[in-house]
Amino acid sequence: MSSKFDKIIDYAVRKGFFWQSYEIYGGQAGFYDLGSLGVLLKSNIIELWREFFVKQHQEFVVEIETPIIAPAIVFKASGHEENFTDYAVECLQCHRTFRADHLVEERLGISAEGLKAEQIEEVIRKNDIRCPVCGGPLGNVYRFLLLFQTYIGPYSPSNLAYLRPEAAQGMFINFKRVYELMKRRLPFGIAQIGKVARNEISPRQGLIRLREFTIMEIEFFYDESNPTCDLLYENCSDEYINILRAEDRAKGIDKPLPISVSEAVDEKIILSPWLAYWMCIAKKFVNALGVPNNKTYFEEKLPSERAHYSKQTFDQIVIVERWGKLEVSGHAYRHTYDLERHIEFSRADLYAIRQLKAPKIIRRSVVKYDKNAVISFFGTKAPQVFKVLASLGSEALAKIVAESKGDSVVVEGIEIPKTIFRVEDVEEKVWVEKIIPHVAEPSFGAERLLYIVLEYAYSEDGGKVIMKFPKRVAPIKVGVTPLVDREPLEGIAHRLFKELKRHYYAMYLEGDSIGKKYAQADELGIPFVVTVDYESPSKGDVTIRDRDTKKQIRVPIDGVVKVIDAGLKGVDIFSLGYPIIERVEDKE
Ligand code: AMP
Repeated sequence: MSSKFDKIIDYAVRKGFFWQSYEIYGGQAGFYDLGSLGVLLKSNIIELWREFFVKQHQEFVVEIETPIIAPAIVFKASGHEENFTDYAVECLQCHRTFRADHLVEERLGISAEGLKAEQIEEVIRKNDIRCPVCGGPLGNVYRFLLLFQTYIGPYSPSNLAYLRPEAAQGMFINFKRVYELMKRRLPFGIAQIGKVARNEISPRQGLIRLREFTIMEIEFFYDESNPTCDLLYENCSDEYINILRAEDRAKGIDKPLPISVSEAVDEKIILSPWLAYWMCIAKKFVNALGVPNNKTYFEEKLPSERAHYSKQTFDQIVIVERWGKLEVSGHAYRHTYDLERHIEFSRADLYAIRQLKAPKIIRRSVVKYDKNAVISFFGTKAPQVFKVLASLGSEALAKIVAESKGDSVVVEGIEIPKTIFRVEDVEEKVWVEKIIPHVAEPSFGAERLLYIVLEYAYSEDGGKVIMKFPKRVAPIKVGVTPLVDREPLEGIAHRLFKELKRHYYAMYLEGDSIGKKYAQADELGIPFVVTVDYESPSKGDVTIRDRDTKKQIRVPIDGVVKVIDAGLKGVDIFSLGYPIIERVEDKE
């Protein structure tokens, strides 16, 4: 008896949801092609994400699109060039390379996340872990950079570039531009959906660990001194999320506990209120994909497990049959890390402005100089000296004067007597100050969600597969078929199919019997099937069958789209007042 995972993969490949890329050349691990049903399912998942995260927050979350190739400086600044690595180990006999921490986890059933290279190596030696393919001895554990490298234009190797491993940097780089477009108001979020690439060491889990996948991310910028998130109380006050805290994990506890989102913020279990808000939305989103609350939780990462940019991270976990748990999204409190680094590396002004409630008195030193003294000392050279002094600005000049020893000050190679300068302390009233906003980031992988949706939709009834996709994400929304493949039923069904295609992805169902047609629709998870039966030509109506209850209603042909629309929006079609019928043909 094969496992549910094997059945789902078999189903997905057979029905053309996805398959390994480059099959005719033997396949390439870590790359998957999507077939037509896969493309539809994935784009429905993306659209639902967009609705939950962007559309419902459109007054302060905007979506942008940036390139997937970036000059190396971007990922030097972001810290990825230095830190975005995994541990690899090579078999000394067959020379295959494996992800060292995963080998340990698979072999010993323990978590190796957060261990250092020497620690993993020690575990490998102590437990005599060998090559899983040929049984050969393993070499040293080393750090492997997961960034894919390339060069921009013909200028290799000087124009080193990387494929982005996350969409985030495109959003940080554009912070100021979007801040201006948002009329300089915090908080606001930038969203991005797009392909990313990670040169995973030895991906062996199909769609779950890819070398190229689609990420859906928000970088949410807020003023740390005013982190209040009213939406938390408006949209999430009654929401409970399951959290497994890092401090409990460190004690060996592995059972998540439910807590209200606002309480998690009040008790500082989640450090950033906005991180908590997006976790609440993430929970609702995953529920909408078919995962019930008791099958999902947030696991707080230990400091040693966190990415270099994060002050606190929660992985959103969904329980799956094959691996027990699967991370579907990461929620990182990136605080000021990325903007600070880009300010440092690019020297760009990536600050926001904070309006103060009361003016702040700033004391600073300014330097004044005696113009006549400059003229009499430098003579015809004086205009050049004025130019140099003006280009520096008062603050920089004050610093140079304060730091210079002796009787003269050297400014850009010109020696100027100190007596020419007068340093004065001044007080200024300011109503604004520059700040670096804090950032909370929810980040989802679309392909993992695609797998989750398949696993949670999969069910069997008497040996037949029924995909109970949530209606919003079902790849094909409606089937249409004549009760028997004969005129005039066929002609009406074809005309209806033509009409339905204008609104939805629809399928004209063919088969020996109506039972087989319905089974075919159930197998593809089609929520509604419209059947043209013997009464249709005279009465001008058809039946609409609901996948999950198998019950039907009789609806006038010109009302079909309205009913399907309502049904797809979550309205119970049996509450619409149409006659409910049960078909003999439906009982297979
Ligand atoms: P991360 O930035 O590592 O937190 O990743 C964000 C999300 O991307 C994860 O929660 C996963 O859903 C997804 N993801 C990360 N790595 C991979 C991968 N190699 N293949 C497919 N999805 C991934």
